[in-house]
Amino acid sequence: MYHQPVLKNRRTLLERVEKFISDIYFTDCNLRGRLFGDIYPLESISVFLSEKRIPYSEAIQQNFQPCKVGDSFGPTWWTCWFKVNLKIPETWGGKEVHLRWESDGEGMVWQNQQPVQGLTNEGEKTSYILTECLKDSESHGLVEICSIDKIITLYVELACNGLFGAGQGSMIAAPDPNRKFTLQKAELVVFNRDVMELLTDFEMLLDMVKVLGEGEQRGFQALFTANEMVNLCDPANPGSFAAARSLAQKFFAQKNGESQHVVHAMGHCHIDSAWLWPYEETIRKCARSWVTVIRLMEKNPEFVFTCSQAQQFQWVKSWYPGLFSEIKHFIQKGQFIPVGGTWVEMDGNLPSGESMVRQFLHGQNFFKDEFGNYCKEFWLPDTFGYSAQLPQIMKGCGISRFITQKLSWNLINTFPHNTFFWEGIDGTAVLTHFPPGNSYEMKGKVEDLINTVKNNKDKGRANHSALLFGFGDGGGGPTQLMLDRLHRVKDTDCLPKVQMSTPDVLFSHLESDSSLLCRWVGELFLELHNGTYTTQAKIKMKNRQCETLLHDVEVASCLALSKKDSFKYPACRLQELWRLLLLNQFHDVIPGSCIGMVVEDALQYYDEIHTTASRLLLDACKSLPSSPDNGIAVLNTLSWERTEVISLPMKDTETRLALVRVPSVGVAHVKETAESAESVIATMMVNGTIIMENGLLKATIDHLGRLMSLLLIQTNRETISEGCFGNQFALFDDVPLYWDAWDVMDYHLQTRKPVIEVIEPAKVLKSGGIQASVSFSLRINGKSTIQQEIVLDACCPYIKFKTHVVWEEAHKFLKVEFPVQVRSPEATYEIQFGHLQRPTHRNTSWDWARFEVWGHKWADLSEHGFGVALLNDSKYGYSVHQNIMTLSLLRAPKAPDLNADMGDHIFSYALMPHTGTFQESAVIQYAYNFNYPLRVHHGVIPKPWSAFSVSSPAIILETIKKAEKRENALLIRLYESHGSRVTVTLSTSFLLQEVWHCDLLERPDFRIPVSETTSGISLTFKPFQIRSLLLIIQ
Ligand SMILES: [Zn+2]
Repeated sequence: MYHQPVLKNRRTLLERVEKFISDIYFTDCNLRGRLFGDIYPLESISVFLSEKRIPYSEAIQQNFQPCKVGDSFGPTWWTCWFKVNLKIPETWGGKEVHLRWESDGEGMVWQNQQPVQGLTNEGEKTSYILTECLKDSESHGLVEICSIDKIITLYVELACNGLFGAGQGSMIAAPDPNRKFTLQKAELVVFNRDVMELLTDFEMLLDMVKVLGEGEQRGFQALFTANEMVNLCDPANPGSFAAARSLAQKFFAQKNGESQHVVHAMGHCHIDSAWLWPYEETIRKCARSWVTVIRLMEKNPEFVFTCSQAQQFQWVKSWYPGLFSEIKHFIQKGQFIPVGGTWVEMDGNLPSGESMVRQFLHGQNFFKDEFGNYCKEFWLPDTFGYSAQLPQIMKGCGISRFITQKLSWNLINTFPHNTFFWEGIDGTAVLTHFPPGNSYEMKGKVEDLINTVKNNKDKGRANHSALLFGFGDGGGGPTQLMLDRLHRVKDTDCLPKVQMSTPDVLFSHLESDSSLLCRWVGELFLELHNGTYTTQAKIKMKNRQCETLLHDVEVASCLALSKKDSFKYPACRLQELWRLLLLNQFHDVIPGSCIGMVVEDALQYYDEIHTTASRLLLDACKSLPSSPDNGIAVLNTLSWERTEVISLPMKDTETRLALVRVPSVGVAHVKETAESAESVIATMMVNGTIIMENGLLKATIDHLGRLMSLLLIQTNRETISEGCFGNQFALFDDVPLYWDAWDVMDYHLQTRKPVIEVIEPAKVLKSGGIQASVSFSLRINGKSTIQQEIVLDACCPYIKFKTHVVWEEAHKFLKVEFPVQVRSPEATYEIQFGHLQRPTHRNTSWDWARFEVWGHKWADLSEHGFGVALLNDSKYGYSVHQNIMTLSLLRAPKAPDLNADMGDHIFSYALMPHTGTFQESAVIQYAYNFNYPLRVHHGVIPKPWSAFSVSSPAIILETIKKAEKRENALLIRLYESHGSRVTVTLSTSFLLQEVWHCDLLERPDFRIPVSETTSGISLTFKPFQIRSLLLIIQ
């Protein structure tokens, strides 16, 4: 076909094609310059500015002022409502006509009271298609969208923030509050679809030339095809396009062999529920993005779009009911695919086990109620690590497939698999897929396809991969161009086969041929963003406190239900509160990687939870049996008996303490005079050191508040390493490479400075009776100080450190260290419903990559016969290197929240030396006790009573709540916490009609028989197994 000589000069041929479609060079004569035809101005444009985000119906009532292209609006976070009047000229009959809108900010077009399309420069959505072929009048659905020579009115709602907020100077910097947003273009234009089609052909061919390179003959075939197309094509003469197009089609139609890799393309728009913008803006981002997706679906019946996060669907349902019903229509058609099964895409490390279950419970129930089905895939592409308990929780919630890709961000080690079985701590495995393109925002380009094949680390084992394409975060997801690209190369030699697909189809293929897949056991640890275990300490503390409080409200309400017929379980309020808590567990909120506005919102939600839940707890406690007296009762919501020192409600300024014993999941009366056999003493010695002793522990404290010694009295065993100090604060420089709030880098360890400046030396605060305490204060640096009270209680096997920090730092990291007399290659950390081990050495790159790790309520370092546990009430960052146990306390990043963590912090931690293993010495139970205060209320309990007890300390009764959507039924959840196989008896004072096993979605499983004995229900557990039961009560 090449009649004229084509010289052997790859470079000039390639650049010739590039210039033919360039949007910078030669647009006066090249093909790109012909993309748009005639332009026609708008009839008029006017604007109304609003500080608040207001609904359409309210906006259009406002007073609009004339404005023009080139004007700027703002400031940041305001909204501009534009009223646009337009008239399409009669001479444009038969043409495709667009409203071309280019502006800063994120826009939504409204027509006939409905949102119809999103607009964003950053998401390559700058056209609203008024008609594809102008006729007298045209409509989509019931809505007339245009007609010749008639004035049409549209509104454009423009949010004054970018796709990624409004960072000052860099994307993740704190927002610039005074940014202006400019309207660059607003006009009618004729769009030449045939030019666009040809440009797409050229682009795909050109990319094949470049990506396949000089080593592939197919790249040269693409080059000669494109070159000949330039020869055939005269941009000024659309009649010449057909010949060029048919050459391209012939090339794309040359097929692969049967063995070629299959790429399952799925449209996606990853929308962070809050991040560099507040929650409220996310609601509009969802609407703008999804309405754009609906428009694309109308034109492309093959197009499939995957969409996660029940909360976002709920927002759209509440705020955009018309759009929600359109979405439902396309869900029914199988194009709009709800995925994930969770309430939000939550953080994968920090939420408690029960929180993770509720993420699925609320998410799956929403998907089932609204759309008729549970999700079959867990979808979490952007979270900073994945707990080793997730496989069991997923399976329990009807999900055995998992998609993510975040481990491609690992800074040190390359994760070895893309498609594999992921096995959790209990042995449950789920089929897991990391899209090999290493992104959830691909563009459907040749490069994305080739990367998907080349990066696949399971070549020969898995021949199917996912490709997620579309702009995220309000970028509106996929574009027509992306769909056109993928459509051209469905089966083109030398590229993978491409099919528009769903997660279900992809995983079905992977499942059907999984015999060669590898297995990864344990957590999926992200070797980056380790600062997120500590950043925004208040969010983390309130999350822990609210998890605890909601637990207690549920337990207390169930107890009240059993004791008082008139008590109404607050199911609706609890649902609202849980959903607020679950929302704040989003993967940029609880990790602390969000802007200050989001922190404010999150803290307000926590306050709402705290206020309402405290009232609910009180209501429930009041309904527990008591005689009308001035007595004081105590509620224990945990499943073991507790003996503890508590503070009583104060009558005057003096604090009153009492030692109480409360049965498991039960209530007891407080006898204020109760004293322990041995009183707790703190004594100042002549050399300034202080000795504290409670019969179990003997602590020696220096004037800096440091532990010089901590003796376990029973065995005379010393805890603190010789010549070292426990409770040693240390300050580190903390300047990461880029992701400020997210990252702490390994090199920060080289900058350690012990905190040793005394403001007030240690002194005895309290001695004798059932509690002793010592206080002191230190200067950390400049204005930052620590004030601490070291507390030892009667009958308590740990020493508590109640800490108040005033924190005014920049790029510093505060930790507290305990060098202990223990040698072990591994330390143990609590995770959701269990624990796991991580190394204390740095042998390999996989070991030293975990220089900062996460844990929940405790970490333990044990050798045979002895160990030390470090408990906390609100922290998540730990490290145990050799024999030094360190708890991470506070960071001071400056982006994206300039004021992150500045101010006052109050938190506690505790050190518990023990004999035997941490299991035998009940570290797990004491860490629960440390986090779940005994709840004191007014009332007289005639005699102590217990609602539930479990016969083995290995089993934790974690949850007692009313069953969802089922009257007269309780749901209880237990888990095996020791890593052992055990048979136990669960006893209860409730009168039970029936007991059923059920899954985490509370669906009864009648295949598992329930064995009841005279003393209760007999249950067997495998290591770390979670069991849920439905108790049908009389
Ligand atoms: Zn994200």
